[in-house]
Amino acid sequence: MIPYEEAYEQVINSTFRLGIEIVDFQNSLNRILAEDIVSDLNMPPFNKAAMDGYACRKEDLQNVLEVIEIIPAGATPKKRVGKNQCSKIMTGAPVPEGSDTVIMVEYTEEVDETHIRFTQQDSKSNICLLGEDVVKGDVLLKKGTCIKEKHIPVLAMTGAVHIKVYKQPKVAIVSTGNELVEPQVTPDTSQIRNSNAYQMLAQIGTLNLPVQYLGIAADTLEDTETMLQKAIHQSDVIIMSGGVSMGDYDYVPRVLKQAGFKIHFHGVATKPGKKTIFATTANQWFVGVPGNPVSAFVQFELLIKPLLMGIMGKIYKPDFYKFTLQQDFFRKNAGRKSFEPVVVHSDGSVTPMEYHGSAHINALTYADGLMVVERGITQIKKGEKVDVRLI
Ligand code: AMP
Ligand code: MG
Repeated sequence: MIPYEEAYEQVINSTFRLGIEIVDFQNSLNRILAEDIVSDLNMPPFNKAAMDGYACRKEDLQNVLEVIEIIPAGATPKKRVGKNQCSKIMTGAPVPEGSDTVIMVEYTEEVDETHIRFTQQDSKSNICLLGEDVVKGDVLLKKGTCIKEKHIPVLAMTGAVHIKVYKQPKVAIVSTGNELVEPQVTPDTSQIRNSNAYQMLAQIGTLNLPVQYLGIAADTLEDTETMLQKAIHQSDVIIMSGGVSMGDYDYVPRVLKQAGFKIHFHGVATKPGKKTIFATTANQWFVGVPGNPVSAFVQFELLIKPLLMGIMGKIYKPDFYKFTLQQDFFRKNAGRKSFEPVVVHSDGSVTPMEYHGSAHINALTYADGLMVVERGITQIKKGEKVDVRLI
């Protein structure tokens, strides 16, 4: 059993990129940029009205102003604004020459059909200046950026419709266990429904990765072997749940060795997920997580996500934030770093939840986070700061 930190390092050190491809920016969520995105223009590209109103000279604000032009967004002003003149202007339109202020329409009144008056004492300029946000040639997004929703408008703005990103690994998911039936089946007395595979499909779905679920392998040497071979043929990363413990029918380690995988670790000092196994060949990765659903969930967050992100081009470290513990926490055994489900309150405090261990299928249902209890720690007092990973 190795500490989590060491397991994380081994996983990260095993990753390499699978090459570069070009994707449409609309399909680029969660992809990692393999190039800098450089702006092809200034933003704003011209001095732009920030409000609907009248463009005029600040020194004329107290005078009656003649309206000489109407400038909708997308139009080019034709007239220069002179003394005691103004142009009616819409938000987003270029301000006309001669003007230095846009007075808001709400702060004006009509004098007659062609004249208006400012009704306040003073006005902001209400003009966004050419290039104040972005200058042509600026690096807008750096190589290595993980594309999120907030980056999409930036790509659109600069016309980066086809972008270079790192290739994604193909992922295969396999469940093992004679006791498993698929969710649409009613289990008989000794069976349970397969929940892990679907949990992991959902988790991988949030990473926007190509993933295939290959089904349930029975707890036999042959079936485990066949399923592993199937996964090897169609994926770069294989994630298997169950079959990694010390039970008589846990064949995964044996089958991995037979298939030429090097086992880097089989046992991580985390709770849940102690029997997690990680193995590689020259160009494939294998993670086996214990079958209990909370173990699978937590190990996905702690090790599988960093693995997948690493191959996709980004060194990802699960983030934890400080919260204040709202009640004393106690545990008997401090041999492993544990992750306890907590409710997060809006005042920045957390409360541990009822949790019966990693088989507690719905323990995370109303949890907002996982609180870390480090190895060697049996007790955390009310009011102490704890590290929490939001889920
Ligand atoms: P294992 O790691 O195979 O020893 O399984 C540990 C526990 O998790 C057992 O109680 C299994 O029945 C349960 N389990 C294994 N695989 C799954 C799965 N895919 N979905 C839900 N529970 C599972
Ligand atoms: Mg099993």
